[in-house]
Amino acid sequence: RKRIGVMTSGGDSQGMSAAVRAVVRMSYIRGCEPYGIYEGYEGLVQGGDLIKKMQWQDVRGWLSEGGTLIGTARCASFRERPGRLTAAKNLILAGIDALVICGGDGSLTGADIFRAEWSGLVQELISTGQLTEEQCAPYRFLTIVGLVGSIDNDMASTDATIGAYSSLTRICEAVDSIFATAYSHSRAFVVEVMGRHCGWLALMAGLSTGADFVFIPEHPPQPGWEDNMCKVLAKHRQIGKRTTIIIVAEGAIDTNLQPIKPNYIKDICSQRLNLDTRVTTLGHTQRGGVPCFFDRMLATLQGVEAVQAVLDATPDTPSPMIGINENRISRKPLMEAVRLTHSVAKAIESKDFDKAIGLRDPEFVE
Ligand code: ADP
Repeated sequence: RKRIGVMTSGGDSQGMSAAVRAVVRMSYIRGCEPYGIYEGYEGLVQGGDLIKKMQWQDVRGWLSEGGTLIGTARCASFRERPGRLTAAKNLILAGIDALVICGGDGSLTGADIFRAEWSGLVQELISTGQLTEEQCAPYRFLTIVGLVGSIDNDMASTDATIGAYSSLTRICEAVDSIFATAYSHSRAFVVEVMGRHCGWLALMAGLSTGADFVFIPEHPPQPGWEDNMCKVLAKHRQIGKRTTIIIVAEGAIDTNLQPIKPNYIKDICSQRLNLDTRVTTLGHTQRGGVPCFFDRMLATLQGVEAVQAVLDATPDTPSPMIGINENRISRKPLMEAVRLTHSVAKAIESKDFDKAIGLRDPEFVE
């Protein structure tokens, strides 16, 4: 019976627990044994109690849980080869040679490095006398399958990451709440949302709350944007609006790559438009709470696909990342998706903003 390790790594997101549930349940359905690796890569490196066989009933109720119930962590030692050597030893001792990892681009990159090094690590475990040839013989290659858990929706090659729609739902609720005060007092609010280098949350929140102005890193405003923003906001007020809502992505920048900070926008609104303006940073409320329908569905269908991908894996096929494209669950080459994701940041750094937007498109060809 094939043993499949399932873990969550990097920043938490809603739906990660649902993904673990799906992998555990599907493993049993396909005649495999699922193992939970707790605390991200920390669990692989430390081994022992952090690698536990999971029963069908262990994941009962996990569809509706926020965050990840098997824990996540940032693990410095896994970034270095000695940490990964210990991780390989722990996996072989537990009889596991397939890992389904739900995390962001960092976690998935680490997983692919681990897979590429695997045979060298096994050789070293044998040559240093830590394990015998017989112990290692059944574990010739390591299978890696990636699921993308991220509220930012920042991974290329997939339309949605697990957690992004829940986070967007939370942001919409928060902006709706703010709207009540804005209306009552006729105030302006500058709302900062998460997303690191990705403006998806800010842009979609702007669309779905009818915000007056949105700042995202992929489409920085031209110099003199303050005048343009004031013109737009003043016009909205002139036609009778009592509210002003401005959504700012945490990574918002201008065309010189300088950060655009919510307090600066607030000062512009107060000084130039005489608006009573407040800043609200939504912070970690955006990660919390129950997953919305979409993330439960996405996590479940992708978890099912991940177990199938483990069973289909050969030493020659590149590690797959499970995505969703045009409403169909897909398999994409993991490292190609990571490479494209990194090219977005590079395109922004080199001020090639049109390319930055195109690169996240699954159909994009460089
Ligand atoms: P995310 O997966 O959300 O992008 P991080 O970039 O913090 O989050 O990565 C999570 C963990 O994955 C790190 O703490 C580290 O253990 C592992 N990791 C990330 N990048 C690498 C890498 N290049 N090599 C090995 N491990 C890595």
